[in-house]
Amino acid sequence: MDLSSEVTTVSGIGEKLAEKLKKAGIYTLRDFLYFLPRDYENFQNTVKICDLRPGKVMVRGRISDLETTATRRRGLSITSGTISDETGSLRVVWFNQPYRAKQFDDNRDYYFTGTYDLKNGRYQLTSPSATLAKDADTTGSDLNPIYRAVSGIPSVKLVQLFENFRENFAFIPDLLPGTLENDSLKNLDLPDFVYPGARADALFKSHFPDNSVEIGEARRYLAYEELFELLLSANLSKQENHKLKSEKLPFNASNTKKVISSLPFKLTDAQRQATWDILQDLDKSTPMNRLLQGDVGSGKTVVGAISAMQAISSGFQVALLAPTAILALQHAEGLDKLLRPLGVKIALLIGSTKHKDLVKRQIEQGNVDLVIGTHALITDDLVFNRLAFCIIDEQHRFGVNQRQKLLSKTAHNVVKNPAGTMAPHLLSMTATPIPRSLQLTVFGDLDVSVINQLPAGRQPIITSVIKETDQKEILYPKIREEIKKGHQAYWICRKIEEGKHNDSSSVKRQATKLQGIFPELKIEYLHGKMKPEEKDAIMDRFSRGKINLLVSTTVVEVGVNVPNATLMVIMDAEGYGLAQLHQLRGRVGRGDAESFCYLISTSEHPSKRLQAMEKSTDGFYLAEMDLKIRGPGEIYGSLQHGALDLQIASLSDTALISQASRQAKSVAKIFVNDPSAMLKYKELGESISHYQQLTTLN
Ligand code: ADP
Ligand code: MG
Repeated sequence: MDLSSEVTTVSGIGEKLAEKLKKAGIYTLRDFLYFLPRDYENFQNTVKICDLRPGKVMVRGRISDLETTATRRRGLSITSGTISDETGSLRVVWFNQPYRAKQFDDNRDYYFTGTYDLKNGRYQLTSPSATLAKDADTTGSDLNPIYRAVSGIPSVKLVQLFENFRENFAFIPDLLPGTLENDSLKNLDLPDFVYPGARADALFKSHFPDNSVEIGEARRYLAYEELFELLLSANLSKQENHKLKSEKLPFNASNTKKVISSLPFKLTDAQRQATWDILQDLDKSTPMNRLLQGDVGSGKTVVGAISAMQAISSGFQVALLAPTAILALQHAEGLDKLLRPLGVKIALLIGSTKHKDLVKRQIEQGNVDLVIGTHALITDDLVFNRLAFCIIDEQHRFGVNQRQKLLSKTAHNVVKNPAGTMAPHLLSMTATPIPRSLQLTVFGDLDVSVINQLPAGRQPIITSVIKETDQKEILYPKIREEIKKGHQAYWICRKIEEGKHNDSSSVKRQATKLQGIFPELKIEYLHGKMKPEEKDAIMDRFSRGKINLLVSTTVVEVGVNVPNATLMVIMDAEGYGLAQLHQLRGRVGRGDAESFCYLISTSEHPSKRLQAMEKSTDGFYLAEMDLKIRGPGEIYGSLQHGALDLQIASLSDTALISQASRQAKSVAKIFVNDPSAMLKYKELGESISHYQQLTTLN
């Protein structure tokens, strides 16, 4: 059986259905088989309608009075009906599932599973799943799988399709080393649930379980398989990285001292430690691949600058990549102040840079030591003279391809060393910490330094969630108070994705409104669609204190540093993720003065996220919370790693992780020494290359 074949191999899936499945990411037979039930219904748990209590329930009955109505809110439809059994009836409602109106046979019984509770003053069953009751089911203890409805394909249809394929499950090939017949890796230390045929068993039990024990067994195998693949790919990346060569940039104590003593402040211990880690890595001829994690305001930039000096004083170039023009500009100004007195030549390369060709020529000829820029740095026509070290600021903002493009700009080395590929050293910096659990598993190949300490004198930002209606009472006086003290404030408006208002009109309107409320203040606004020069000019005025209140979209989210700003207001705070809220809040509290953050919420009860924000200013704590609230797939969503979806495995299952990790390590060793061994595991090879895309940070 070739799992890479198209889904149309499954009987019952024609071209039309295949198109729909594609929209849900199901292209191949493999995708189909791994589309696991999101839950199971156990038909023994039904309740008579007269005995219903609020909560998750299952009833068995017939449905009548179905109708679908469109609501005033565009795009939303409601399908409602009545479910009856011999003891009574209840109202049922589905949102945006108009097919429900035609799904049922009035004369047959169905099982309905969903939440029964009070909505708008009446009890109802909301968006239940529905399964046709077979006569046998009344006494049986069958577990019926429930699938996530995709592209309008209801769960029942998917059940049918899997049923069609039932006889073929036995032919699903094995995946993990040590399970194949005549497998040379048979004597690996395998857990007992990894045996020949284990994968076929696990998938079969997932889709057709006899009892809940089988579901558990299936999950355990599939979780193990998932972790194994992930860990194997991380291991292989690390081994591959070790084969590369890079310039050895020798540590020089007196040069380093010179930079550090020119700083206007004393480094924190954490900064010192991180700097030391990096300087040692640079002094090696294998490429550094280090992630510098430090909370917003912890002072990562200066660590990057000191490290850059080690490369520059050995005669090499350094590239610093930043996600926005505002940030690149700010780095260029700050670093110019710090490094120019030490003889460093800096160039800024952003979209609005004038005489770009000239600047590029200077870089190519080697007249520039440190190049700071945005995406303009990774254009094809930019050639470095002797690039040996890349720093990526706010690395989570960049995709794999962009990072790789920057790293490939070491062309000169190939000429010098045609035999081997030379790679630059890489330092990635981020304030969005990777939770420890993910770090150990997914990013096992990465070295990490942590700045877990803020510069002396910083005070935690006092954060409050307030209701929209409380602005006048609470917020406006606070704004006046802070600005009277000579401080400045940010006011963040929600980015409006669609509809007739765009970002620019929303910040503009808000700025006008606030100007009416605070006629005495100098208020300006900023949004992403402005011309780069305009943005720069506004940020420049703000950082020189010429603007009291800056109304902005999230363009100020990353990295922007104006220590005199002490007040942050975030409108519609419910609309942001934790990481982003933390980043936004981090724009204040960057100086010695006490700072404040107000999260304006439109909902009656603040979400878990906003509560977490009120409770803590520790980015590491918030990242763990975020992982709990949302799961890893979403955190490392499209931006960072494509799609890292751990479907089954839980990163908190440390026992399983360490088992998988042991096997992955042994197999990685074998594969690296004998690449032909890998060819035997075609399927495994495919999924590894997928994961490697996701898990390497270089
Ligand atoms: P982030 O880690 O968020 O990138 P920055 O590098 O922008 O933080 O630093 C934030 C501010 O703290 C800057 O104004 C920087 O000059 C200042 N800073 C950095 N290190 C120290 C220190 N050890 N003591 C005092 N101020 C510092
Ligand atoms: Mg920064």
